[in-house]
Amino acid sequence: MSAALLAATACGTEVGSTSGGSPGGASSASTDGKTTVTAAMYPLQWLAERVGGPDAAVTGLTKPGVEPHDLELSPLQVGGLETTGLVVYIRGVQPAVDEAVEQHAADRAFDAATAVTPLPAVAEEEHHGEEGHEHEEVDYDPHLWLDPARFATVATKLGERLAAADPAHARGYRDRAAATAADLTALDGELAKGLATCSSDAIVTSHSAFGYLADRYKLHQIGISGLDPDAEPSPARLAEVAKVAKQEKVTTIFTETLVSPKVAEILAQEVGAKTAVLDPVESRPSNGDYLSAMRQNLSTLQAALSCS
Ligand SMILES: [Zn+2]
Repeated sequence: MSAALLAATACGTEVGSTSGGSPGGASSASTDGKTTVTAAMYPLQWLAERVGGPDAAVTGLTKPGVEPHDLELSPLQVGGLETTGLVVYIRGVQPAVDEAVEQHAADRAFDAATAVTPLPAVAEEEHHGEEGHEHEEVDYDPHLWLDPARFATVATKLGERLAAADPAHARGYRDRAAATAADLTALDGELAKGLATCSSDAIVTSHSAFGYLADRYKLHQIGISGLDPDAEPSPARLAEVAKVAKQEKVTTIFTETLVSPKVAEILAQEVGAKTAVLDPVESRPSNGDYLSAMRQNLSTLQAALSCS
């Protein structure tokens, strides 16, 4: 047995590398007849589980309660990318995932950002912390799951991608993708209706995660820090946000579950507002799922913006 073959054996032989299938054709790894799917972060994991159903074994790279942007992958996780059937990710959210996908799973990756027309990245003056400190390597805002209409499109395209990777179960993937897209479209309708008539449209948020929500439902997002929640806002940025918040008579400064609320609390005190949690659904909610977290966000926004 050659050294190369030994190495291949040691790395696991789940992928049908010895089958006489079409060279270059998409081979999908499987466990117990299920297609293995690796989802980079919670909203994508939720989507992959819904669309994959009983035909897919979905694993997530980001553990619950972990802020995904700065995720570091273990060697085991990186190794897993070599054999997984499909990686579902959004380029621009997690630099470590982007790099690992490029190196180990470029031919088996579904980048949700390519499934929709993304929004441009938040304007420079709206989100920089200290000078030259930029994590984003893409020129668009990657938080696209916060627009349920776009996310519905992602569901449909993920269904097609899984159907292509695992043709024997194509029907199931397409049916579940359609059902998931319908749920997301219904959610979009609820948000549109619930946010149609509000006395304010300004949302001050910890990091600029809500650009899609703001764009879709005609709100105006003022992000304290930029697209990366760990970027420390400069004193000048804080003063600017405080000024705008006062002008806009903002009643609520939004905090997140996974980002320290300290800065938001100081700001709230300064402008005489209270704080409330608006969940960017970057991680699995402690209760419920993506859909219920978004509905909770709707009621939080309705209260803060005095919607009727
Ligand atoms: Zn984010």
